[in-house]
Amino acid sequence: ERENLLELKGDETKTQDGVTVELAANIGTPDDVDGVLANGAEGIGLFRTEFLYMGRDTLPEEDEQYEAYKSVLEKMDDQPVVVRTIDIGGDKEVPALDMPKELNPFLGYRAVRLALGNKELFRTQLRALLRASVHGNLKIMFPMIATIQEFEEAKALLVECRDELKADKVDVKDDIEVGIMVEIPSAAILADEFAKVVDFFSIGTNDLIQYTFAADRMNENVSYLYQPGHPALLRLIDNVIKSAHAEDKWVGMCGEMAGDPEAVPLLIGLGLDEFSMSAGSVLKARRQIKNLKKTDMQHLAETALRSPDAETVNALIKEYTERI
Ligand code: PEP
Ligand code: MG
Repeated sequence: ERENLLELKGDETKTQDGVTVELAANIGTPDDVDGVLANGAEGIGLFRTEFLYMGRDTLPEEDEQYEAYKSVLEKMDDQPVVVRTIDIGGDKEVPALDMPKELNPFLGYRAVRLALGNKELFRTQLRALLRASVHGNLKIMFPMIATIQEFEEAKALLVECRDELKADKVDVKDDIEVGIMVEIPSAAILADEFAKVVDFFSIGTNDLIQYTFAADRMNENVSYLYQPGHPALLRLIDNVIKSAHAEDKWVGMCGEMAGDPEAVPLLIGLGLDEFSMSAGSVLKARRQIKNLKKTDMQHLAETALRSPDAETVNALIKEYTERI
């Protein structure tokens, strides 16, 4: 089984009717890159940078961060590496930051909200990323964006850091793509407006499902509401993809759903461009996608979008995938 899969390692990820998608992997530390390469991923769709801040009493300085980003970019050669800026808060505590206890941490001061409220902390990370950009194919992504203003403010800070570095004669790439995670319903709903200002979207279904169904992703008592196949979620995803494509922007997905074999046929049908998952799932997903026909999956997706519930959608997926 594993040997058969390994034969697909250097292959493109192409459907039966010739549509190519990108299969990428999620990583949490630079050491994870070995697994990414061993499993034939075509890039890194989500580099979570929280490891730099957690489990220590001091904040990481610019040079330490630069080295971490550089090592990942160099190992990945010219393959894309999407680095997500700090996503701390919520369940992720940072001892070096004096973070107040909150009643609703997942609805609170976290991720880009916290970064924008701690500009020096944010600048340190952005400068490290910009310096590392010359070592590979870096893309920068902001988490938990709810409004266009948040994106504009984060992007403006990035541009400011770039100009500052350039004035100091530090090499920085000029054409770095800057995108957002779509993990808050407001961003998914307003995707047509966001698509005019961002370079790409990556859908974070772990949080997007949590916020769409108002169901804590860690609470087992409400886990029945955690339904990747639910048409309410699929309509949000559909809106994001259509809005992005109308502006010639690409859309990835880096939540668990991207590597879920039950969801992959639907996502192909909805037109997702990039799938980012744990490295161990990449080859299986490649094999699955090579056996799908996009036109069939488009019909599946259209019917799914017009279904009343996840049960109906899951039955449809079964019917479609058993036919092949
Ligand atoms: C997500 O929310 O889907 C995501 C990828 O981010 P995290 O799991 O780190 O919150
Ligand atoms: Mg998230």
